[in-house]
Amino acid sequence: MKRSFLLLFLLLTVGIVPALAQEPDTTYFSHPEMNEINDEADSTLMLVRPMDTLDTPDKYVKIVLFDDHTWDYIELDRPDIDTSGLFEDWDIESIHAFRDVKVSDLPEEVDLLLADSTHHFVAPIIGRRSSTFKYRKGRAHNGVDIPLRVGDTIRSPFDGVVRYVGGGKATGGYGNLVVVRHPNGLETYYGHLSQRLVVENDIVAAGEPIGLGGSTGRSTGPHLHMETRYMGKPFDPERVINFDNGTLRDTVLTLKRHYFNVGSHYGMTDKESKAAGEAQYYKVKKGDTLGGIARKHGTTVNALCKLNGISSKKVLQIGQRLRVR
Ligand SMILES: [Zn+2]
Repeated sequence: MKRSFLLLFLLLTVGIVPALAQEPDTTYFSHPEMNEINDEADSTLMLVRPMDTLDTPDKYVKIVLFDDHTWDYIELDRPDIDTSGLFEDWDIESIHAFRDVKVSDLPEEVDLLLADSTHHFVAPIIGRRSSTFKYRKGRAHNGVDIPLRVGDTIRSPFDGVVRYVGGGKATGGYGNLVVVRHPNGLETYYGHLSQRLVVENDIVAAGEPIGLGGSTGRSTGPHLHMETRYMGKPFDPERVINFDNGTLRDTVLTLKRHYFNVGSHYGMTDKESKAAGEAQYYKVKKGDTLGGIARKHGTTVNALCKLNGISSKKVLQIGQRLRVR
């Protein structure tokens, strides 16, 4: 009797659940239990083999179908998130949190644990950068750009809680944006998404899809704009992730205060990074020319153009900020 009920249930769910599933990516297991099941399937001691898994309304409960037409529920590890301090200055209305904190308030140096046996890392996306953390055309580019195909899955790199989700006018150049706060102290930002797969206050595990890549907002083609922030302040995401191969640079991130400057990027020595932090800016006034500004600050037009990523033929706008050293 019980068996036939199970079969009936199975027949119903096989047809219905996949169509309802939000995340049809059933081959991806970020959870150790699922991989254990696969390992057991290889063992000759096991008589039944799992054939498929189905989603349930609870994302941490899956239905496993076995090849003898039985099924079972499996409960996945719910992310074991240390929430102490995680909700400090929690703000689901604003893109940026910790807006009252200044870079000078941050510690000279802080060690953040990114990964160990219980803290997993999964690259949000793997790919070549098309733009880096730097001043671009006189504007701060606070993250890295990774080209993608519209619809590519973007994953949370660490466990975390979704702090902000927005789009349209509210996010401006970011387009569809998801911001996740992680227990390691970082916040990660994902812009230009075609779809947002999470809502505010969602708990996400490392590797869990949070959005699909796109080209919304100020974007010239499909790409992910990703930022890493600590206490609301951006630093080069390449200090955390090697996007070429999707690995962490290190399991512990030593954040130095001088990293919180758009002129400071991965690969610089501390001396170079500090020098970049001492950058000076000049606000363009009526009648200014690049040559005139260069002379006034003891530099050259060429150096100015290089620092600001502009062409020497660039028409200056009154009020525009130019980096002069
Ligand atoms: Zn960008």
